[in-house]
Amino acid sequence: MQPYRHILLAADFSEHGKEVADHAKDLAERYQAKLSVLHVVDNLPVTDSIYGPIIPFDVDITEQLLKASKEKLDEIGERLGIPGKRRWVEVGSPKVEIVRVAEEEGVDLIILGSHSRKGLGILLGSTASSVIHHAGCDVLAVRLKED
Ligand code: AMP
Repeated sequence: MQPYRHILLAADFSEHGKEVADHAKDLAERYQAKLSVLHVVDNLPVTDSIYGPIIPFDVDITEQLLKASKEKLDEIGERLGIPGKRRWVEVGSPKVEIVRVAEEEGVDLIILGSHSRKGLGILLGSTASSVIHHAGCDVLAVRLKED
């Protein structure tokens, strides 16, 4: 088996994120692999079909979210020893962007969290299951404890 050379941590800043991040750091050290971290700022609905605009258009919410995301990503990056050039923020669908960035950056292992799904969650599908199905590389889904 080829050792992993470039590991991507998908960080959603949830309270379980530290556990997932610790797995990523541990594996990167074991394999002496590069470690990168990605957060995706989810596309926000700016209008609702029934109520019309739900966010005033003069509020550039994406800019604010990007800034806040970069700060959080820096905290994670500092803790895990990830250099600034491998702390990435993208805007879009997390499911799509995680797979796209992994392919573009030559990642060979994606690490993310996975909740057990019940009810509506099963119908909507999880980020983890979508990434596992679409990624061209290995994916480690760290099982997260129930909330
Ligand atoms: P979820 O399906 O939303 O429970 O997310 C499962 C895992 O996917 C999380 O633990 C993260 O590792 C990753 N993930 C979810 N949303 C994002 C996001 N916006 N940016 C980066 N990673 C994410």
